[in-house]
Amino acid sequence: MTSRFESLDPATGDVVGTHPVDGQAEVDRAVGAAFEAATWWSALGFHERQEHLDRWKGVLARRLGQLAALMHDETGKPYADAQLEAGLAIDHLGWAAKHAQKVLGRRRVSPGLLMANHAAYVEYQPLGVVGVIGPWNYPAFTPMGSIAYALAAGNAVVFKPSEFTPGVGRWLADSFAEAVPGHPVLQVVTGFGETGAALCRSGVNKVAFTGSTATGKRVMAACAESLTPVVIEAGGKDVLVVDEDADLDAAADAAVWGAMSNAGQTCTGVERVYVHERVHDEFVAGVLARAREVRAEPGGQIGPITMPSQLDVIRDHIDDATQRGGQALLGGPDAVGEAYVQPTVLVDVPEDSRAVTDETFGPTVTIAKVASMDEAVSRANASRYALGATVFSRRRGVELARRIRSGMASVNSVISFAAIPSLPFGGVGDSGFGRIHGPDGLREFANPKSVAVQRFKAPLTLTTFTRTAKDDSLFAQLITMLHGRTPTLPKR
Ligand code: NDP
Repeated sequence: MTSRFESLDPATGDVVGTHPVDGQAEVDRAVGAAFEAATWWSALGFHERQEHLDRWKGVLARRLGQLAALMHDETGKPYADAQLEAGLAIDHLGWAAKHAQKVLGRRRVSPGLLMANHAAYVEYQPLGVVGVIGPWNYPAFTPMGSIAYALAAGNAVVFKPSEFTPGVGRWLADSFAEAVPGHPVLQVVTGFGETGAALCRSGVNKVAFTGSTATGKRVMAACAESLTPVVIEAGGKDVLVVDEDADLDAAADAAVWGAMSNAGQTCTGVERVYVHERVHDEFVAGVLARAREVRAEPGGQIGPITMPSQLDVIRDHIDDATQRGGQALLGGPDAVGEAYVQPTVLVDVPEDSRAVTDETFGPTVTIAKVASMDEAVSRANASRYALGATVFSRRRGVELARRIRSGMASVNSVISFAAIPSLPFGGVGDSGFGRIHGPDGLREFANPKSVAVQRFKAPLTLTTFTRTAKDDSLFAQLITMLHGRTPTLPKR
């Protein structure tokens, strides 16, 4: 008999639900059914799929409260934050469904002069079945970044939620089945890491993984055995940089929300701040004034740490920073309790300490003074992670955002890129590769298919053994004529 496990409320320890520990056999069965469903789903075409996805979107929106309550119970995050997260996931679903045809549908492209006797077409066909492995910190928004886009691209999905949030995963699949009955286009398998590993070995056509860098490497290694492609959305150590001309109130507000919201358990959360020396003290005062108002407690602005083992990591980072000369202007070693961590603001932390180099995933932030924005960019770019970034500057925001090594950046606001469905989401370096969201997120779950159609016989046929020496000479003349001169480009 399949064993079961419990998901717990991290604030109280109460049991929220029990779920099966699915092994390889159960995962294989789900993937087999998904392949059948994928045949039906992909044959529907974009318009009909959009109708189905819009129906699901309606169910999600009407039951937003129910979904948010379950997210609150399983993660401990405040109900309003859960509602915000679920609402943004619904917005992405709507965008993916609406734009799939435009991005992926068949379109004609120019065949070029050499092949002018052809018509050329490109379209993006579904992969088949996509395995989605998700984390617990944003149990709806994060996996939906893969699920919604993979479904809209015409794939069936088998989703393995985190062992801490299996109920949210189950709820999403059940609500889909109500909106789209009869075909298991979205299924959930539950369990621990081994269930995720089984999904990697199940013959799915792609695995979309979101989680830590270490697990991402294991997922990639397992998928390599069957040459299964992967998208890896991994951890981050995002910076916020503050220029001397920045709106300091707005920057301080963004730093506190970016670092502390969701108790700091955000892949694109602000973990490091580099601030121009001319405005450093005023900025820090603004951060402290705001962070002092944030309490981690039942009913507070931030909830508990969802994964108990993360408490040790957060404690270790704070201890390491303070033992090596760092100062806690707020919080500190005593801020780490049994379930809750109080906001912690660290300054004078050595750049090679773990609070600066590793993902902390708690409501903590390091703030360092820099002499120039060049120094801020170079310190920002010293990280092996490169997920998101935030820049506060009146004059140079976009310039600095472009120079920071990251997949995404927000200027004069924080994490806003994640809420804009047309923007691709993902990182580089240890933060992973591949993209969810936006047109790139749709293409991530599709195979480009190129078709060239000969419309009439060309005077010069190149792909035949009957080609003559005269044809070869004509071809050489043509290439010289077309590409032999270096053209003068118009001035921009
Ligand atoms: P983990 O890497 O621990 O787990 C992620 C998922 O992988 C879980 O479902 C987990 O299952 C599963 N898993 C564990 N071992 C294996 C395995 N060997 N093979 C396949 N799957 C496996 O991450 P967390 O859940 O702790 O999530 C937090 C991390 O996610 C942070 O590093 C955060 O930065 C990152 N993240 C990245 C985002 C991005 O978009 N870049 C967004 C959100 C979070 P189980 O839980 O059952 O062990």
